[in-house]
Amino acid sequence: MLDQDTRSKIAAGEVVERPASVVKELVENSIDAAATAITVEIENGGMTLIRVTDNGEGMEREDAVLAFERHATSKIARADDLEAIFTLGFRGEALASIAAVSKVRMETVRQGSSEGTFVEIEGGKLISQGVIGRPGGTSVTVSDLFYNTPARLKYVKSPKTEASRIKDIIDRFVLGYPHLSFRYLSVGKQVLYSPGTGHLDEAIAAVYGHETAKKMISVQYEWEGIEINGYIGSPDTARANRAFQTFFVNGRYIRSPLLSRALEEAFSTLIMVNRFPMCVINITLDPHDVDVNVHPAKTEVRFTDDRRVAAVFFHAIKRALSGDGMSSEQDQDN
Ligand code: ADP
Ligand code: MG
Repeated sequence: MLDQDTRSKIAAGEVVERPASVVKELVENSIDAAATAITVEIENGGMTLIRVTDNGEGMEREDAVLAFERHATSKIARADDLEAIFTLGFRGEALASIAAVSKVRMETVRQGSSEGTFVEIEGGKLISQGVIGRPGGTSVTVSDLFYNTPARLKYVKSPKTEASRIKDIIDRFVLGYPHLSFRYLSVGKQVLYSPGTGHLDEAIAAVYGHETAKKMISVQYEWEGIEINGYIGSPDTARANRAFQTFFVNGRYIRSPLLSRALEEAFSTLIMVNRFPMCVINITLDPHDVDVNVHPAKTEVRFTDDRRVAAVFFHAIKRALSGDGMSSEQDQDN
């Protein structure tokens, strides 16, 4: 029988693969806490420091320590709630897993309260706890990731590679949540700022720059309950790979060879071979027509009717390209 310490390190490995997974879990917690402004700071590709600060609802004193216990989640009260999950997290595993393999300091203050709590945990063990003052919200600082799991450390790539994975995760959040403000700093230097105005074109500008954002073509289309909203890049913004194609289905980031193919077919003669159109597309449809659990990392989906979704999407792109869509000057809120 493995001891508790070993078991929690193994379990942690499933949630915390690399610095970018820590960033993803912490930002999801901030979003679940109804934050409207989220700051992510990293040092050394996230290996020495990751700090996520939000202006969300914060936690009560008792809950702050409890939050680090495995399966302690405030997000589902009963098992049958699993059918109706509206939060990004619900397993209560992330904080416990992160704290098992790093040194964590959390500061949290309930909105409207002037006094809050700090908690320090190292390798899963409570080190200290006390009272602090700070604005309402939560900040979680993760230091020395994998300091006690040398085997994990070996899988981590260079700080530069890890930083670029973190940037990809931040980009996704910025594009998927244009109504939230994000600030991202690496070693004290601001890499990205998104104002959170709710306008997707401004989020695109934050991620890809104003020049590219100006060349985006708006897509707004609806057919029999399938809604397609967002932007595609004009043909001259086509890139050398598909990393600039972003899809969300019912708000969830996904990868979809099916949609990429439909997009590329719609652009067919407009761009050169081995160039790939850019897009940021939100697809909204009846949740019953989507199965999100095909892949454990949940970035793949299966549609009940693949061909129909692809056809509607293809048509939406064609129409936008033919100038029937709205121009990018006309904002859309979503
Ligand atoms: P989950 O998100 O699956 O519930 P986590 O381990 O990620 O599990 O978080 C545990 C609990 O800690 C959450 O259910 C929530 O109550 C609380 N929590 C974590 N991060 C925050 C935050 N930034 N603001 C407010 N509460 C938080
Ligand atoms: Mg969570």
